[in-house]
Amino acid sequence: MQTDVIVVGGGFAGLTAAAALQRKGARVEVLEGSATWAQQFRGELIHPRGVRALQGLDLAAPLFAAGGVEVHGFAATASSTSAVTRLPYTHGVGLGIDHPLMIDTLRRELATRPGLTITTSARVEDFLRDGGRVVGVRTADGHEHRASLVVVADGRASRLRNLLGMQAHVRLLSYTVALGVEGELPSGRLGHVFLGAPGPVLAYPYAAGKIRMVIDVPLDVPKGRAAIKAFLLTHYAPAVPEPLRAAMKQSLEQNPLELISTQAIATEACAAPGVVLLGDAGGCAHPLTASGLTNAMNDVLTLADVFGEHGLGDDALRSYQRRRYDFVRMRELFTDALYEVFRGQDPGSRALQAGVFTYWNSSERSRIASMDLLSGEDLRPGHFVTEYTRVFGRSAIHVLWGRHPGSRRKNFSSLLKTSLGRLEHVATRTTKTVVDRYRRELHQPRA
Ligand SMILES: Cc1cc2nc3c(=O)[nH]c(=O)nc-3n(C[C@H](O)[C@H](O)[C@H](O)COP(=O)(O)OP(=O)(O)OC[C@H]3O[C@@H](n4cnc5c(N)ncnc54)[C@H](O)[C@@H]3O)c2cc1C
Repeated sequence: MQTDVIVVGGGFAGLTAAAALQRKGARVEVLEGSATWAQQFRGELIHPRGVRALQGLDLAAPLFAAGGVEVHGFAATASSTSAVTRLPYTHGVGLGIDHPLMIDTLRRELATRPGLTITTSARVEDFLRDGGRVVGVRTADGHEHRASLVVVADGRASRLRNLLGMQAHVRLLSYTVALGVEGELPSGRLGHVFLGAPGPVLAYPYAAGKIRMVIDVPLDVPKGRAAIKAFLLTHYAPAVPEPLRAAMKQSLEQNPLELISTQAIATEACAAPGVVLLGDAGGCAHPLTASGLTNAMNDVLTLADVFGEHGLGDDALRSYQRRRYDFVRMRELFTDALYEVFRGQDPGSRALQAGVFTYWNSSERSRIASMDLLSGEDLRPGHFVTEYTRVFGRSAIHVLWGRHPGSRRKNFSSLLKTSLGRLEHVATRTTKTVVDRYRRELHQPRA
């Protein structure tokens, strides 16, 4: 088969990209390095925006039929004794599904689509180039595969991104421990965020009667599996309400523990002549806001749209790069800000946490606005700054007139320091995004 597009990586991003491009009439070959599928823990919770995109590719129904479950929004608690704040989705339903099952289902579904092939045990080692242009790839067995476009979707540790000389700023943030437990969540089919431990705990349903707990652990956690288990039992279990706490303890005692690093990766460029980065290869954020899969779907739809509008030429790739960063930068900023506030142990971060809850509990409008930002429905930087300012206002009231522990003056100056630091970060990153956008426009070679 003559190939128009080679997709490197048969993970979530690569497979859905293949489906979307095939829909637009491209002949697509997916090259997946593993014999089976990546066994390391990966994302399982997809926001409604991502589910709607999957529906558009006729991939949502097979995922639900395979055992995926509806998720209806989020719920958050400041500690195990605080009231639950519910933040329902207002733009449809989300999906929770075991990651290997999701990949297997997508693979089976796509195998039936004409013009699309998936080859496993095909590790891509290098690019084929013609002048400055990528014209294909070489796999570990020495085979050459040529196409008009190479889509690089080889995940966050992308080796191919480095081979292209595309810079990535990598920040190691923390570790994650993922546990599978049986039962139902206290507020039903919602993603739950439990605070009050040294890092946030995210829990969500990933199958009927099954819950995944994704526990964020700081980098200075005690060394050794036994010490980490003891640390989780002492410092995290009390933040989780019963009966989930008992299930968490049982799972920790009975199962081997895997520590996964969490990173924030930001790229400066995601397109060059003949090649684009997609999914985590193009960058990723902390998993707290469950953004990776929904962001990947945005990459996929953006690429398919520009392909439909401009074909596979460099104009299309330039357009993909611009539109992708317009979406991704906002998501990175929001996730960064929320994670820093939720993991912070200083009085400023604690006051902001209290302000977030007071704000959410103040009105339905505030809950919807925050949820729209969290789930990627609202991408306007102005809205993000407005919401942040409102939270800051509640936090200030909390510190000055509430029953926040410690000295008012010290707490208020810590709050100011943390908030202004965050706002400065947002302002700098937003300005940089705009400047980078114009710089890329100026420097990208013309087709
Ligand atoms: C702990 C954790 C929890 C997360 N939770 C969520 C969540 O709840 N919701 C959410 O939306 N996101 C979540 N994410 C993020 C989500 O997992 C990723 O965004 C998503 O998996 C990215 O998909 P991908 O296809 O880009 O990369 P990957 O899933 O990493 O897939 C890359 C594929 O490329 C293959 N590959 C690599 N190198 C080569 C090569 N040289 N040649 C051929 N093939 C190659 C690999 O074998 C793999 O199959 C989480 C991430 C982490 C770390």
